[in-house]
Amino acid sequence: MKATPLIRQGESIIQDSMEKRYRLILFDADGTLFDYEKAEDTALDAAMTEEGVPYQREEHRDVYRAINQELWELFEQGGIQAAELRVERFKRFSDATGIPLDPVSVSRRYLKHLSEGAFLYDGVETLLKKLRGRYKIGIVTNGLKEVQRHRFAKTNLPHYMSCIIVSDEVGVQKPDPAIFRIALKEAGESDPELTLVVGDSLTSDIQGGKNAGMDTCWFNPTAKENQTSLLPTYEIRKLEELLEFL
Ligand SMILES: [Mg+2]
Repeated sequence: MKATPLIRQGESIIQDSMEKRYRLILFDADGTLFDYEKAEDTALDAAMTEEGVPYQREEHRDVYRAINQELWELFEQGGIQAAELRVERFKRFSDATGIPLDPVSVSRRYLKHLSEGAFLYDGVETLLKKLRGRYKIGIVTNGLKEVQRHRFAKTNLPHYMSCIIVSDEVGVQKPDPAIFRIALKEAGESDPELTLVVGDSLTSDIQGGKNAGMDTCWFNPTAKENQTSLLPTYEIRKLEELLEFL
C-alpha cells in the first residue's frame, strides 16, 4: 500500500489515486473525543475544595498540568505504574507549590469526580453517526479503568464501538503496538494496514499507530508545531475533516 500525502494546515488534499478503504477507525478518547481539560478542571476544583486545599485554578492549574504531563510521559515509557502516578502527581504538586495536602485523599476524591466528567466535544456524536455503518469504530485510551469506563458509560459512545480498550485493563499502553493489536482483534479485524488511528498525541497515538503498522491521523486543533520526527499520514484541525477523506 502506497504512502498517502499529509494533510497540512487545513488544506483539503484528497488522498491520492489509490483509494484506501479502511475497515476500522481507532480513536483516542481524551483530547480527541472528550474535552479532558474541562473534566480535569472540574474534578480538581471539587477535590481541592472538599479537602480544604487553597487551590486557585488560575494560579495552580498550569503547575498541576505540567507535573501530570511529565508523569504520563514517564508512564508511556514504562517508568511509573498507574497506581503510583495517581498519588505521585499530588505529592509533587504539593512540593512545587508549598501547599500542604494529603495526596492519597486528594487523589481519591479527584478520581471520583473525574470519573463523572464526560464532556464530549461538539459534533462528536454526529460524526460517529456518519462513520458508523461504513467503518467499524473503536477507542484506545491510556487511562485508569474505573475512570474511563465510568465516563464512557455516561455517554452514548459505547453503542458505536466495536472495541473499547483501556490501557489499565490490558496491561499495555500506547505507544506500545500491542494495545492496538488487541483493539484490532477485539474488533474482529486482522489487517493493521486497513486501520486508521486518530488522536491528538504524537508520542502515544501517532507513534503507537505507526508502531502497529497502521495509518495515522493527527488531530491538532491548535495548530501545534510538530517537534518530533514522526510523520502522521494525515493531519486535521477539526474532527469533521475526517469526512474529507473517509
Ligand atoms: Mg489524547
